[in-house]
Amino acid sequence: MERGIFTLNDLISQIRAVRPQADIKLIERAFALADTAHKGQTRMSGEPYIQHPLHAAMILVEMHAPDAVVAAALLHDVPEDTSVTLEEIEEQFGKDIASMVNGISKVGKIKYRGVERYIENLRKMFVAMANDIRVMIIKFADRLHNLQTLDSIPQKKAYRIALESLEIYAPIAGRLGMGEIKGRLEDAAFKYVLPKEYEWTLDLATKATQNKQPQIQKVIEQTKVELANNHIPYIDIHGRYKHLYSLYRKLLKYGRDVTKIYDFTAIRCIMPTPADCYAALGIIHSRWTPLKGRIKDYISQPKPNGYQSLHTTVFYDRGSIVEFQLRTPEIHEAAEFGIAAHWSYDETKTQHMAAERFKHMLDTEKEIEWISQLASLQDTVKGKKEFLESLEELKLDVFRDRIFVYTPKGDVIDLPEESTPIDFAYNIHTDIGNRCSAAKVNGMIHPLDQALKSGDIVEIIIDKSRKGPNPDWLKFAKTRHAKSKIRQYARAGLATWIKGVIPDAIRKRKG
Ligand code: MN
Repeated sequence: MERGIFTLNDLISQIRAVRPQADIKLIERAFALADTAHKGQTRMSGEPYIQHPLHAAMILVEMHAPDAVVAAALLHDVPEDTSVTLEEIEEQFGKDIASMVNGISKVGKIKYRGVERYIENLRKMFVAMANDIRVMIIKFADRLHNLQTLDSIPQKKAYRIALESLEIYAPIAGRLGMGEIKGRLEDAAFKYVLPKEYEWTLDLATKATQNKQPQIQKVIEQTKVELANNHIPYIDIHGRYKHLYSLYRKLLKYGRDVTKIYDFTAIRCIMPTPADCYAALGIIHSRWTPLKGRIKDYISQPKPNGYQSLHTTVFYDRGSIVEFQLRTPEIHEAAEFGIAAHWSYDETKTQHMAAERFKHMLDTEKEIEWISQLASLQDTVKGKKEFLESLEELKLDVFRDRIFVYTPKGDVIDLPEESTPIDFAYNIHTDIGNRCSAAKVNGMIHPLDQALKSGDIVEIIIDKSRKGPNPDWLKFAKTRHAKSKIRQYARAGLATWIKGVIPDAIRKRKG
């Protein structure tokens, strides 16, 4: 993706377009310091160095980042690569911006050095993130621009950077609900990590879109006409093309069979309100025949990662199919920017989204529950070895694919793939886990050691007289949470037993 050369004016006009009340003075001061500090330095591509922080800042502005974050992005490589120190940045820009800049240089030192250092890298990343989520988001922008300029870097190093992006950065962006950034990071890295597969996917995607483009455009036009005729307002209707790497993953899942991919291209309808989304769905279904079983209402039942949209797939033009995705602008922004979509709301009240605020948000928003698990992991586990072991389990929780199952009341529970009713039970409540005696899945008795599937409705049957978990559950429990609760009970049980037995023995001796 060539983005060319940017100037300070480009950045400022972009900021003004997004946020008219922005503190332009602050941006100008940050730019001036960075520009002077990097004077004479060039990137490997030969461009003046300032282009890099400028591009990173631009990516953040597109994500509606607050001024302090944009300023920190402009300054992010200054202490590391120039004679200007962090102290000077703090003097001129205050503690908040300086601490972000410091955080970015720390995360920047984390390098992917193969599987053996992977956990250690993740740990550092998570520590930085738990301290200040904004640092991680600036890091994504920094990384994205680096990936876009990999061509001018020696092949071996380019491969390392791309692999690290694919294995560490993109999954984290995904778990933060930042779908757009995740897709862009993956696509930029894909080309360098798996060049042949990239070419193959690109070729397929190009052919498919070239063939379908005119027809899709026609469907878009017809949709607009139908909506207007029925007095249903819309904000924007456009085609969206699947990110290449995610298309590739899907193709692998379906044995490289292109005909199984229904959402190659989709038509995205941005509607003023959820009610307009449902109304438009009715219009679309009366014009084109929907494909059975492909209507998905993530507006009334959001995915646990927060994704919301109304989906349907319809037939058009004798057997061709296309997916419609209907959503409001708020939902659209949340789906593209994830956690970053929240920052626009608090900007006036608070300059930063510090750890405390963030933790509070985590309590209320289940989809990012795992970060609070991380934070608590930091507090509870002291030993390094123990920490790494727990992190290994947590890593599996975070990065393996998730399944989404329901309680009988319809609450969605987000679990790692292969989770069992035991994991589900402990996710609901420790007591439910400890007293679990059987499980019903979709109304039928289901063995406790057998994996659940997405969409299952799970009911735990408890035995009130039950003393505690069966240690054998450790053999098939998948989540760190369930395992640690089972172990904890075993340890506590032993302690109670010792307490009970010893005084007794002593009493007997005395007697
Ligand atoms: Mn950088």
